[in-house]
Amino acid sequence: MEIKVIPTTAPKAKPDWNNLGFGKIFTDHMFVMDWDSENGWHDARIEPFGPLTLHPAATVFHYGAEIFEGLKAYRRPDGEVQLFRPEENMKRLNQSAERLSLPQVDEEFALKALKQFVALEKDWVPSLPGTSLYLRPFLFGNDETLGVHTIHHAKYVVIASPVGAYYAEGLNPVKIMIETRDVRAVRGGTGYAKCGGNYAASMRAGDRAAEEGYSQVLWLDGVERRYIEEVGAMNVMFLINGTVVTPQLTGSILPGITRKSCIELLKEMGYTVEERLLSVEELSQALKDGSLQEAWGCGTAAVISPIGELRMGQAKYQVADGGIGKLSQRLYDTLTAIQWGTAPDAHGWTTVVK
Ligand SMILES: *Cc1c(COP(=O)(O)O)cnc(C)c1O
Repeated sequence: MEIKVIPTTAPKAKPDWNNLGFGKIFTDHMFVMDWDSENGWHDARIEPFGPLTLHPAATVFHYGAEIFEGLKAYRRPDGEVQLFRPEENMKRLNQSAERLSLPQVDEEFALKALKQFVALEKDWVPSLPGTSLYLRPFLFGNDETLGVHTIHHAKYVVIASPVGAYYAEGLNPVKIMIETRDVRAVRGGTGYAKCGGNYAASMRAGDRAAEEGYSQVLWLDGVERRYIEEVGAMNVMFLINGTVVTPQLTGSILPGITRKSCIELLKEMGYTVEERLLSVEELSQALKDGSLQEAWGCGTAAVISPIGELRMGQAKYQVADGGIGKLSQRLYDTLTAIQWGTAPDAHGWTTVVK
């Protein structure tokens, strides 16, 4: 399929690179393509960034037929722009699409389109330390009828937003509250799919945690309310007695690309990594007897987010000394060096965009 390029006639002024924030500024263009059950994907185009006009009955508004991805384009010290494991995002997009009965994309084509789009927006990839161009592919159903039925029309869009450093002053430990009332996902549900609905279901718990001064919630499984799943919108890892323990992908957990990369790097560093069920009882025991040495969240946005405090019910526990663990810092340094191209990429994880 050919990609039509419709350049903007009104390029925007570039932002203040020192005050980007997250997801507030958008580039000049967006990638769009449409799907219907008769013609498949068609009309691939890069067009000026702007509002989407949708029918008020569009499926996405009523039945939440929406999935998305999140990845970044990084500016290397030599000025080149690169992506980190973008083929993994395309693969996951299709896994999410399959779960929600949305049309899948041709991964190779979607990756090619993504690269062409980023190449066009290259001047929007910031170069200050920790900054990047955040890419947000999303796909939704837009049948113009209220009937609940198989999706016949869909749209795939990619927008891009230059974002600031997640940690302006280096890594910063966060306070986490264990969520005991709401659940994010259940096995058999959509937990492993990156879909907007999972986020909608998690807002209330996030708000309640924020009211109490906690930045994220630690989610437990939806059946026994006992096993640790994720932290906010990140995967979670624990260093217990020298071994790294992370929840196994049971179907209700999002298979993070940062998680996968951390596991590979940790094994290379010589750590044993256990992907298994980890109960709150085991975690609280490890907190009490001091065997919990470190805890961190991992995801594209923050890369590594060290956990300094855990609250369980009314009890508050400091994780080790409450600071940034050695391994959390090492993982962060190793991964970000590959992503921003300040260290060689021995894994072939990065793709230069020309
Ligand atoms: C996107 C996401 C993650 C992290 O995935 P990465 O590929 O590492 O960015 C973890 N949990 C949830 C719920 C997510 O949506």
